[in-house]
Amino acid sequence: MYPFILERPRDVAAATRLGSADSAVYIAGGTDMMQLLTDEILHPDHLVALDGLLDARIEVTPDGTLRLGGAARMSDIADDPDVAAVFPVVAEALLLSASGQVRNMASIGGNLLQRTRCPYFRDPGVHACNKRYPGAGCAAMDGATRTLAVLGTSPHCIATSASDVAVALMALSAQVHVLGAHGERVLALDELYRLPGDTPQIETVLEPGELITSVVVPPTPAARNSSYLKVRDRVSFEFALTSAAVGLDVADGVIRAAGVAMGGVGTKPWRMPLVEEALIGRPATAQTYRDAAQHATEGAVTREGNRFKPELMKRTLVRALHVVGGRA
Ligand SMILES: Cc1cc2nc3c(=O)[nH]c(=O)nc-3n(C[C@H](O)[C@H](O)[C@H](O)COP(=O)(O)OP(=O)(O)OC[C@H]3O[C@@H](n4cnc5c(N)ncnc54)[C@H](O)[C@@H]3O)c2cc1C
Ligand code: SF4
Repeated sequence: MYPFILERPRDVAAATRLGSADSAVYIAGGTDMMQLLTDEILHPDHLVALDGLLDARIEVTPDGTLRLGGAARMSDIADDPDVAAVFPVVAEALLLSASGQVRNMASIGGNLLQRTRCPYFRDPGVHACNKRYPGAGCAAMDGATRTLAVLGTSPHCIATSASDVAVALMALSAQVHVLGAHGERVLALDELYRLPGDTPQIETVLEPGELITSVVVPPTPAARNSSYLKVRDRVSFEFALTSAAVGLDVADGVIRAAGVAMGGVGTKPWRMPLVEEALIGRPATAQTYRDAAQHATEGAVTREGNRFKPELMKRTLVRALHVVGGRA
């Protein structure tokens, strides 16, 4: 590990000041950051500790909105009875993430900002990674692409976004509250993440030092009737090959509203508006689900190692739609 100075700010304002310095990074639960430091993938000069600074509460407000403090632990959110009852896709996505030990340490803020699991990004022996060394090339392009993205890719990076719960939150139109030197702002989760384009090293729209202070999820009938399906190479402790977060509001057998996002396939958690449009106003039937799933792969660009993904995406999505459609 490279040497660094550990900063322990007394309050959030001091944290954002320290965090905005060049070569400073935040650490929350440390479950991702410690790996990146010990493997010498990152070498910050300053590590700014967030423990004890951010809100860790999980609340459902009187109007039914879910509010997660930025430091709320993955395990606490997954175990919360209101989350399980009213936002089941969030609880399910968390329970299918990582392991019990990791979930006990990891925060929601850190989860949303965890770094990609691209094996070349995580290999200290690989130099050709535009995310780590802008302009150095991309070893993944002609390498092992089984776990890599097919949506939102660029000629410079095909790294998959890793978070499961980000996919669930995307399907529910969640917002993130962020705080920085210029005050607070609110972003749709979809706006938080940037596509790689020709600057894959810039992953979000956050300004230097900006912190995620909370995540807010609106209550909807589709959120209440929602589910997360994750397909992976091992049954536990593994990232998604494909995943689907689906919420449906069905009345009298007809789909009135839909929220759909997929994981394991995009360079960011991937909302699927075309699939949603193809579901709304149609009967909740197997034919509707199959027709809608055809739209999931529009724009997909595959490589030799991940040509299986578009078909797997459609099947994952159809199965997830059956789960929630069957419960409606
Ligand atoms: C073995 C293993 C398996 C895993 N499997 C899965 C999986 O299946 N699905 C899944 O979704 N995840 C998985 N993970 C990832 C895990 O969920 C993340 O490591 C964890 O959520 C990160 O949270 P943390 O609080 O530990 O963040 P840290 O490791 O402390 O930080 C992660 C990143 O977020 C930044 N950060 C942290 N908090 C904030 C904040 N409030 N504002 C701004 N920046 C912040 C840090 O600077 C850092 O860049 C796995 C991790 C491990 C180690
Ligand atoms: S896909 Fe992205 S993260 Fe992976 S090696 Fe290429 S540039 Fe680096």
